[in-house]
Amino acid sequence: MSTPSKDVYLVIGGSGFLGRHVVEALLARGDSVAVFDIVQRYHDVPFYSGDISEEEQVSDALRKSGATCIIHTASPLHGLDDPALYWKVNVDGTQAVINAAVANSVPKLVYTSSAGVVFDGSDLIDVDERIPQLEKAMDPYNESKAKAEQIVLAANGKGGLYTVALRPAGIFGPGDRQFLAGLFQAWQRGQSHIQVGDNTNLFDWTYVGNCAYAHLLAADKLGPVTPEDLARMKENLKVALPS
Ligand code: NAD
Repeated sequence: MSTPSKDVYLVIGGSGFLGRHVVEALLARGDSVAVFDIVQRYHDVPFYSGDISEEEQVSDALRKSGATCIIHTASPLHGLDDPALYWKVNVDGTQAVINAAVANSVPKLVYTSSAGVVFDGSDLIDVDERIPQLEKAMDPYNESKAKAEQIVLAANGKGGLYTVALRPAGIFGPGDRQFLAGLFQAWQRGQSHIQVGDNTNLFDWTYVGNCAYAHLLAADKLGPVTPEDLARMKENLKVALPS
């Protein structure tokens, strides 16, 4: 984690839980980083106020920050009763980020997707990134995340832009405003003796620092696929890939 990369980063959603940890991980290894968000919570890096569904606002931040890599973690929180907002921010907004990246010759985009794009409520054991998206998502949030992931991956290699999408499941750690608050409310309601299921339920949690680190690793690896990459992928996946 100690060697800075040559990239200049714009962390979209960098005022949020995961986004802030991405910013801190970049700062820790000496990278140049700015934040784009609708709210400002920190004042230690350049901040651009804006909404990702406004392409010109994203473009403006890209020009001013000189970013060469976008890490896009922005989304409305899960659990809102507002399908239109999810679509506007996650689908139209992500498309606007891609358009702005291509228009400003930004070569790298890392997108935070969600395990919800493959999770239908039943256990997923020993699956990896090859598992396809669900035909029908569980709710409008996950539907919008799935569509956003599709358009991010479809943009890969086009207009000089390389893209990757990561699918975290539950993220925990300092700064979380979602899960811990819910647990605390359950405890306040005296619901500490309730068990859901028969104690065989599985759920995958990742520490936020590890999730942030995964975003840096993904950004570091983004770029045209080399013959060596292809050979390694063939070996790892044990499937036939085009040469
Ligand atoms: P968060 O709410 O803490 O952070 C999201 C940030 O995005 C906030 O700072 C918010 O102001 C910003 N934002 C929202 N709408 C915006 C817009 N229109 N334009 C610009 N900025 C906007 O959420 P988080 O938990 O840090 O989640 C980060 C990402 O990880 C999201 O994409 C989420 O879907 C994904 N994710 C989170 C979890 C989890 O357990 N927290 C699990 C899987 C995936």
